[in-house]
Amino acid sequence: MNERILIGDLSSHTGKTVSISGWVSVRRDQGKMVFFDFRDRTGTVQGVVLPGDGALMEIAKMVRNEYVVSVSGVVNARPERNVQADKVNGDIELEIKGIEILNESEPMPFDISGDTLSVDEGVRLKYRYLDLRNPRMQRNIRMRDKIITFFREYMHKNDFVEIETPMMMKGTPEGSREYIIPSRLEPGKFYVLPQSPQQFKQLLMVGGFEKYFQIARCMRDEDTRGDRQPEFTQLDFEMSFVTQEEVLAYTEAMFIELVSSLYPEKRISTIPFPRLTYAESMEKYGSDKPDLRENKEDPDELAFAWIIDFPMFEKMDDGSMQAAHHPFCSVKPEDREKFLKGEDLFSIRANAYDLVLNGFELSSGSIRIHKADEQAQVFDLLGFSEEEKQAKFGHILEAFKFGTPPHGGFAPGIDRIVMLLENQPNIREVIAFAKTGEGKDLMSHAPSVVSEKQLKELGIALITKDKK
Ligand code: ASP
Repeated sequence: MNERILIGDLSSHTGKTVSISGWVSVRRDQGKMVFFDFRDRTGTVQGVVLPGDGALMEIAKMVRNEYVVSVSGVVNARPERNVQADKVNGDIELEIKGIEILNESEPMPFDISGDTLSVDEGVRLKYRYLDLRNPRMQRNIRMRDKIITFFREYMHKNDFVEIETPMMMKGTPEGSREYIIPSRLEPGKFYVLPQSPQQFKQLLMVGGFEKYFQIARCMRDEDTRGDRQPEFTQLDFEMSFVTQEEVLAYTEAMFIELVSSLYPEKRISTIPFPRLTYAESMEKYGSDKPDLRENKEDPDELAFAWIIDFPMFEKMDDGSMQAAHHPFCSVKPEDREKFLKGEDLFSIRANAYDLVLNGFELSSGSIRIHKADEQAQVFDLLGFSEEEKQAKFGHILEAFKFGTPPHGGFAPGIDRIVMLLENQPNIREVIAFAKTGEGKDLMSHAPSVVSEKQLKELGIALITKDKK
């Protein structure tokens, strides 16, 4: 066999004998002739076995859809009347001279060649590796890679350093329940999975990096809430010596360049992005993520908006008070007095901002507190006892005593960005191995039970609920 030629490059080999490898997308047996569509990562091409070679015809008759094959043949220009101008390789055809079956395949559990959006999602998630062969899913995941690569390069170009932060840590309060990991070496003790790298990125500012970023996986144990995943990905970043204005300007320029370089066909409704205070947005649109598109039917319109001046605290359903974003946001200078006195708490605004796109919250961020006494004041107002404060955040309060620079940051959600740019109906379509809204992996059946032995090693006993 000759060296493998990629299907996408075939047209430059017209008239030559080549070898390709890939899958059989379609097989059409017309008796005397057998037609195929072959597929590799670069595209598809039609091939034909002509009458004459009995042994070859026999193999051609055995091959089924999704078999993996190596095929040799001559690349022929198609006669004018058979050219499919709108298709890649629509002007060529492979006259097959040999087929080697590299692996067979059972029939597909669902049609992977059409738009799999109409297929039951449970089946697609169970056979995700087959669903991923579909052209739309291939594009989603490949564009995700391009978007992430764009961000990485943009960050590096602007002097940011990519730094990994721990996946096993002590909690960061971001308003969600945490996933916990039992410690075997210290039974009864637990790590948690990060809801975001928030504390670490701030500590990296204490550590003198000034500009940090990470393509960060975040884990949040939320009840089923629409289009959420228990784990998701953020472009997490943090800068020292910045103003809110600088974070906004940097981010805005980055998104404009992302769109113009990867999605030039799309149009951003308003540049500079409109800015609304939280209060204005709530009053005008009844929402802090207004959809400002002029034409909601236009798949190429992108309406970004900034929402600023979020409240620092919010009242929970049970009457308790929580940090509206997280407790590390700094307070607007105008509201500082109230903050220090602990008065009229729900009217205090933070230097906190969101970026919204077409009615979705893309990102949250803030200029942070960088002084230990102010940070302690937030914890006091949130009702933490001295002991709790030390147990949970002693390390942060201590770090802030050692020359912490003023700093702030942001964390755009990658899944939502890809979903919106690719006009996909939900984030599962842009995550290779997505879980259901209930957090289940239907392919490998996670979460699952673990052995008695493992539980014992961890010092864990299960309380089984009575079956009624
Ligand atoms: N950690 C925050 C979040 O996940 C983002 C930030 O404040 O930078 O929403």
